[in-house]
Amino acid sequence: MDATPNPRRLGEFAMIAKLFAPLAAKAEGAFGLLDDVATLRLPEGQELVAKVDAIVESVHFLRQDPADLIARKALRVNLSDLAAKGAEPMGYLLSLSVASWCDDDWLARFAAGLAEDQEYYGIALLGGDTTSTPGPLTLSITALGTIAAGRTIRRAGAKPGDCVFVSGSIGDAAAGLAILSGAGAALSEADRAAVIARYRLPEPRLDLGRRLIGLASAALDVSDGLIADLGHIAEVSQVRICVDGPLIPLSLPFANLWGRGTDAVRRAATAGDDYEIAFTAPEAARSAIAAAAKDTGIKVREIGRVEAGEGVVLLDEQGKPVPIERAGFTHF
Ligand code: ADP
Ligand code: MG
Repeated sequence: MDATPNPRRLGEFAMIAKLFAPLAAKAEGAFGLLDDVATLRLPEGQELVAKVDAIVESVHFLRQDPADLIARKALRVNLSDLAAKGAEPMGYLLSLSVASWCDDDWLARFAAGLAEDQEYYGIALLGGDTTSTPGPLTLSITALGTIAAGRTIRRAGAKPGDCVFVSGSIGDAAAGLAILSGAGAALSEADRAAVIARYRLPEPRLDLGRRLIGLASAALDVSDGLIADLGHIAEVSQVRICVDGPLIPLSLPFANLWGRGTDAVRRAATAGDDYEIAFTAPEAARSAIAAAAKDTGIKVREIGRVEAGEGVVLLDEQGKPVPIERAGFTHF
C-alpha cells in the first residue's frame, strides 16, 4: 500500500478496460468498448428516445459526496426524463472529465455505483469518452430508450379542461439539501434520513410513465421546480395552469421540517430535484390514472386544472394567487 494522496495509476485505456468494459458486457452492440462506436438495434415499430444531462462538481454535487451515489444520481436524473416521456430505458453513454483529485479508488466506487443501478434498471453502458480536466469533475450521461413510434408523451398537448397531476411528493429533495446544509436539527433521525435519501437518490417513475402513454396529454419530470416545470408545459401547450397549493403532496418528514402552510407549499413548489412526473390528462382518464397509481404503487395526486390563457398560478386555500418570485432553479 502507498500512502501518497491521489494515486491515479490506471491509464486511460486500462481504466476503460477495467472499470467500464464490464458495464458494457451485456450490450452486444457496445463491442466490449473496443470500437469507436456502439450500434443499437430497435425493435420493429419502436423509435429511439435520447436525453443528455451533465452534472458538475460544486454545482450538482460536492467532492466529498459518496462516489457511488454521484454515479447513480447522474444516471437516474436521465432515466427520470425517459420515465416522464413513457420510454423504456435501453442503455447509456458516459462522458467523464476526470478532475485531478479523482483517484483510482474514487473511480472504482463510481463505476460500482453505475453497476448497481444498471443491474437494477436492466440497462448497460454503451460507450463514452474520457478526458482529464484541470477544473471540477464533470460528467455527462446520455440515456437512450425506446418507445412505440409516435407515442412519446410531449410537453405540448395539454388542453383547457384537462386536470393536472403529480406523482409522489414534492419538496423532499429541497428539505434533504437544507438538512445537509445544517437545517432541521430538531428533526428525528428517520425524517432526516428520508429526505436526504430523496435528495441523493431520485426514483425515476418508470413504471408510472409507461402507464401514462395514451392517458396523459402532456408530461415532464419535475427537476427545476414544480411551478417552473409546469410553466414549460403551459408555454409549449399554450395554456394556463392553475395549481391548488393545498393539494400539492407534501411528505410527513417535509411537513415536520417546514409545516404545511402557504410558505411551505411555495417552498416545495419552487424547489428542484424532485424527479416526480407532472402531467395533464382529460377528466375521462381519471379512473385509469388511479388504476395506474394503484398497480404501480406510485402515488398520484390531482393538483389543479388547465385553462385557456398562459402561465402558471399557484393558489392558496382561499383560492388567491400566491406571489412567486422564483418559480424554480436556473443556472444563469
Ligand atoms: P476516441 O479516441 O474516438 O475518443 P476513445 O479511445 O476515447 O475514442 O474510446 C474508446 C472506446 O472506449 C469507445 O468505445 C468509447 O465509447 C469507450 N469509452 C471511452 N471512455 C468511456 C467512458 N467514460 N465510459 C464508457 N465508455 C468509454
Ligand atoms: Mg476519447
